[in-house]
Amino acid sequence: MTDSMFRLLVVEDDADIRRVLRTLLEAQGYRVVEAGTAERAVIEARSHKPDAVLVDLGLPDRDGQTVIRDLRAFSTVPILVLSARTMDAEKVQALDGGADDYVTKPFNAGELLARVRAALRRNAQSSRQSHVVRIGRITVDLAAREARDGDGNGLHLTPLEFRLLACLIRGHGLVVTRDQILQEVWGPDRIDDTRGLRAYVRALRQKLEPDPGQPRYLLTEPGLGYRLLVQDDAIGTH
Ligand code: CA
Repeated sequence: MTDSMFRLLVVEDDADIRRVLRTLLEAQGYRVVEAGTAERAVIEARSHKPDAVLVDLGLPDRDGQTVIRDLRAFSTVPILVLSARTMDAEKVQALDGGADDYVTKPFNAGELLARVRAALRRNAQSSRQSHVVRIGRITVDLAAREARDGDGNGLHLTPLEFRLLACLIRGHGLVVTRDQILQEVWGPDRIDDTRGLRAYVRALRQKLEPDPGQPRYLLTEPGLGYRLLVQDDAIGTH
């Protein structure tokens, strides 16, 4: 599937922002459907079956959070939230409510397009499971549960480190919230162990990053969680 066949639904009540988004996305060959209200968003999503949805949280009729919930009731489409920088609590609520990532307003065009590509890639990958990914010079084979450095030497990861790494890899470059990680890696009993999580992130950085103090791949999303930038041989580089 080429990019030109992807259809994106933009849910945003500000006509100027919608126009900017349409111009930007159409220049990449995406087809764009617009909705200015929460009610319209659900109607357009049902009739056009978009490949990804961008949702503004501040909509005139209902909160954008309800759009996410409504979409999740019938669709697994990737959802990107358009959110103001100061709204960390809202972002967490949106991500835990089923959104896949967020883009901060006023948005940077390059960042927005990278998030859209990551969201579309995540969707493509659920149907074509790839087990080998690269993180800089490190290669990780999820099926074999092993990691190697650029010289082919095995990298020692504890079972918990590997589960954390696999969880972040499954994010496909999208943000993974602390709660999602703790739930998936540590289980429901340890859901408040954010100190443990930070310690394991530090340990992973020591093993993955060329300079652990200046992470290039395992990035912190302040107040939210983490994002791992991976390259996937099956789909193309980041
Ligand atoms: Ca708005």
